[in-house]
Amino acid sequence: MAKLKLEYIWLDGYQPVPNLRSKTKIIEGDPSTLSLEDIPQWGFDGSSTQQAEGHDSDCVLKPVALYPDAARRNGFLVMCEVMLPSGEPHPSNSRATIIDDPDTWFGFEQEYFLMVDGRPLGFPEDGYPEPQGRYYTGVGYKHMTDIGRQIVEEHIDLCLDAGINHEGVNAEVAKGQWEFQIFGKGSKTAADQIWVARYLLMRLCEKYGVDVEWHCKPVRGDWNGSGMHTNFSTKYMREVGGKEYFEKLMEAFRKHHEEHIAVYGPDNHLRLTGLHETQSIDKFSWGLADRGSSIRVPHSFVNNGYKGYLEDRRPNSQADPYLVASRILKTISTVPTE
Ligand code: ADP
Ligand code: MN
Ligand code: MN
Ligand code: MN
Repeated sequence: MAKLKLEYIWLDGYQPVPNLRSKTKIIEGDPSTLSLEDIPQWGFDGSSTQQAEGHDSDCVLKPVALYPDAARRNGFLVMCEVMLPSGEPHPSNSRATIIDDPDTWFGFEQEYFLMVDGRPLGFPEDGYPEPQGRYYTGVGYKHMTDIGRQIVEEHIDLCLDAGINHEGVNAEVAKGQWEFQIFGKGSKTAADQIWVARYLLMRLCEKYGVDVEWHCKPVRGDWNGSGMHTNFSTKYMREVGGKEYFEKLMEAFRKHHEEHIAVYGPDNHLRLTGLHETQSIDKFSWGLADRGSSIRVPHSFVNNGYKGYLEDRRPNSQADPYLVASRILKTISTVPTE
């Protein structure tokens, strides 16, 4: 037996996007066999997180996923849903709205900026660095002048040690901008892992005096915004698919475009302009290998007889992956399968 440090993580009730919150519970346990079933429910004061009024403020933390925390001796990260004392999901609990489906797969590409004193890493105090061009997947001190790569490297290891299905990173188009990708089988798996990976990145950056900027357009002008491209496939899309089904699916996505945009992150009009590899916010389009469309259809999808995954390019970097996954599955569920 040992003293285990459990970091309970949840989303608060702020609008339009929730913030991560966390606190530590110490329990006795065996770190080598600890599993989700061993983790007790817990609670917090919802009046401090915009989730309750002061006079009746207890909210319940229901553990839903457990990850080792390599940054702490005998540490674990406990992703939680927020519940009402009645046992019902709290209105802010977006995870609870996702249709349960072990055979849906999501892959999120999370972009973000690293910032110091309100400026992206590597931006001078006045004016701008060299225009975009050499930063994307770049190498060399001239263009990657900062501690960004060191943070990114440490973040990869924290994610891998946590058992997060991290798939890769790349330096992005704007200076100080990066991306990581996370893939998961099961309709909630990748979204859970995105939230935990965001938590790990923000916590890691505290010790560097660096902020993570999730906003989709932190630098106005000719600088790329940040997205969270969402790649998705259901079992039916992967195994049956077909052109006819695909076209019906795209009609459903067109019909529900506004409902999708409503949960795809705030200020998305600043990013979805039709420039910088985006479609404009008021248009829905799909295209083969087209990075200027709302939904990009990979070549492999068409070559395999309209089977496989699709990429929704509209969600932005600040979107709640739970809401994104939830909306995509709702729209898919309106399309009849054979
Ligand atoms: P790009 O930058 O070219 O858009 P990335 O390589 O950054 O592509 O991301 C592609 C994403 O697609 C990865 O997160 C990957 O896990 C995901 N993906 C691949 N196959 C599937 C699938 N069958 N279902 C859902 N997501 C998938
Ligand atoms: Mn990518
Ligand atoms: Mn990208
Ligand atoms: Mn992409």
